[in-house]
Amino acid sequence: SEVLVDVKNLKKYFPTGEKGKTVKAVDDISFQIYKGETLGVVGESGCGKSTTGRLVLHLLEPTEGTVTFDGQDLSRLKKSEMRTMRKRMQIIFQDPYASLDPRKTVFQILEEPYRIHHPEMSREEIYTQVERLIACVGLRPEHITRYPHEFSGGQRQRVGIARAIALNPEFVVCDEPVSALDVSIQAQVINLMQDIKKEFSLTYMFISHDLRIIKHFCDRVMVMYLGNIVEIGTKDAIYEKRRHPYTQALLSAIPNIRKQENEHRILLTGDIPSPVNPPSGCPFHPRCRYCMDICKKEKPQLKTMADGTQVACHLKIE
Ligand code: SF4
Ligand code: MG
Repeated sequence: SEVLVDVKNLKKYFPTGEKGKTVKAVDDISFQIYKGETLGVVGESGCGKSTTGRLVLHLLEPTEGTVTFDGQDLSRLKKSEMRTMRKRMQIIFQDPYASLDPRKTVFQILEEPYRIHHPEMSREEIYTQVERLIACVGLRPEHITRYPHEFSGGQRQRVGIARAIALNPEFVVCDEPVSALDVSIQAQVINLMQDIKKEFSLTYMFISHDLRIIKHFCDRVMVMYLGNIVEIGTKDAIYEKRRHPYTQALLSAIPNIRKQENEHRILLTGDIPSPVNPPSGCPFHPRCRYCMDICKKEKPQLKTMADGTQVACHLKIE
């Protein structure tokens, strides 16, 4: 399949304020996103998934490495070129309440992308577009004049989705889009996102800590730990084969997707280490039940298995 987003040796280090110390939020990752797919990105909080999403959209400048979108290196684009590029890539945030201006009506929120990118459009033309968007995300015409606080969480996220698709993007990063919603509402919003994906031929990068939603929604899955990719492959390969010890631990923590009834939960012992002082060698070694001597010294690189899955582990895995 055709590569839409090509990420190479991407790093993002943040200063901590303490001299000479940095947080290695993203520590040298390379991966691709194919046109038309949904790539799930999963891991515990602080693993670098949101930072990766922002780097991919060039909302953050990488410390090192490149993001190529449809053949264009984003860090080499001129301001005007980046502006055009912005229309093609969008983001849906976790908390629609925080990301929508409370002083603006739905119309004012949704007219903004057109005002910025299509100054030639008349108010009537924009109104028609906003009406179309509202219908697309399952809101009603009378919602156009309402304010964010007048909506439920699910409806607010529908407004967030409408804003993201206003300019017909090709690629959308969804950063925990349903995590702030009631479980009963999550499925509705996920289904809407599926419909919209088909209708607009979108490619998604879907960030979530919820392995059940990832399983339902994604074609491929990338598992992150402390700023690193530990495993990436098709959904079936990740959920069935579960090759990396960290993937095993994550998946076994969810009762109803355990492989077999009698499979025991593998406990993740210890806290996630700090990305300021990441462990030597394999970042997962302090919590890994298979840890060997080499794991403390050498960082394992991603190796490609026969089915295309890539796994970063010193164990003999096939
Ligand atoms: Fe565990 Fe070693 Fe594999 Fe890291 S490299 S996941 S410590 S076995
Ligand atoms: Mg996050």
